Parts: sequence; structure tokens; C-alpha cells
Amino acid sequence: MSATLAGHAETLRYRQALEANAALVARGIVSAWSVVDPADIDATLLAALPGTVAAVRLGQARAVNASADYVARFVAAETAGDPYAIGAGLVRAGVDDLPGSTVSGKPLAYVVMWARVMAKQMIGQGVPPKQALRIALASNESVGRSEAFRAAQTTVRAITTANPDQVAGWRRTPSRRACAFCLSLVTGVVGHEETTAAFHAHRNCGCTAEPAVRGVDSGTYLLSA
Ligand SMILES: [Zn+2]
Repeated sequence: MSATLAGHAETLRYRQALEANAALVARGIVSAWSVVDPADIDATLLAALPGTVAAVRLGQARAVNASADYVARFVAAETAGDPYAIGAGLVRAGVDDLPGSTVSGKPLAYVVMWARVMAKQMIGQGVPPKQALRIALASNESVGRSEAFRAAQTTVRAITTANPDQVAGWRRTPSRRACAFCLSLVTGVVGHEETTAAFHAHRNCGCTAEPAVRGVDSGTYLLSA
């Protein structure tokens, strides 16, 4: 296997792990919401808060660890090195405080509070409570999945920034279900001078950041598997 193919295999494995992680977050939220009674949203929706926050936080933490591990494995694959030695040598800066907050920097509890406001607003407009709750729950699941992916995207970029000697930059690899917007953002390597560039992601975006290993030209490509 060429270095680049070995790297791509790591990226595919990583992507599958992230998708499974996002699904786990959504299941955790659904389970936390099982205590909510449509007949008494005021009294019961907040009971879903601790479980929802825990599910998202855990998903973010798993995504951070999977992503740090992935960068080490990817660098090892492209340089025929030892992933454990490379992982031990990589500086893991600015990633361990990612879990616990949303993209806008608010505490995760805000996600549930917002769902409560949304549900009550819909009910006020005549939407049946059961249906309003279904929509609010779907919104929470969507935020949870997105937050798990965002933790992953942010981690790869943070490790890139912290390890300029091994990692020259990152490139966007679109998800299997990538929309035209995401595909249009696949432009090649974002180098160190630009590593503060935002990773544009819409709700439920499963695109990932792939390290560009210094000295290895992997080019730009689209993953289709
Ligand atoms: Zn995307």
C-alpha cells in the first residue's frame, strides 16, 4: 500500500468511528428525553437536561480522543512510522477543554433550554404538544451530532496548529453525503499561515479535517467510500 492509500484507509476508519459516535450521541439524547411528558412539558422537560448534556459531552470527549489518535495514525501511515511513538510526541494543545460547550461558546445546558422555549412557542401557535416535542427532540439530536463532529474537526485543526514540524496543514475531506456547499469547500491544504481559518460546517455536517503531513504530497481528492 502506498503511503497515501494507507492514510486514506485511516481516514475512512476515522470517519466510520465518528459516524458511530454521532449516532450514539443521538441515541443518548432520545433516551434522556424519554422522561418528558407532552402533557406537562413545563414540569418534565428539564428532567431531560442532565442526560442530554452528558450524552453530548461524552460524544465530544470521544471525538476529541478519536481525533488525536487519528492524527497520530495518519502521520504514521504516511511516514511508515510507529503510531504510538508519534502519538506520544504530538503536542495535544487546546483540545481537552472542548467538551462541554456549544459552537457559540454557551454551556451545553443551553441546548435543552432552547428546545424548551422552542416547544412552548410551537404549542402557543397551536402545534399539538406531542408534535412540538418531536420537533424539539429532533433539533436536540441534530445539535448533539453536530457538536460531536465539531469537536473532531476542531481537534484535528488544533493539533495541526500545535505540531507544525510534523503537520503542514489540514484539508477538508467531504462526508459521503456531502452537499454542494461542502464539496465547494474542498480546496486543498490549508497551511500553517491559515490554520486559524474556520472549518465551515452546517448542522449535521459530517465532513472531517485530514492532516497534511509535512513532506508528503497527498494532493486533493474526494473520498467516495
Ligand atoms: Zn459537510
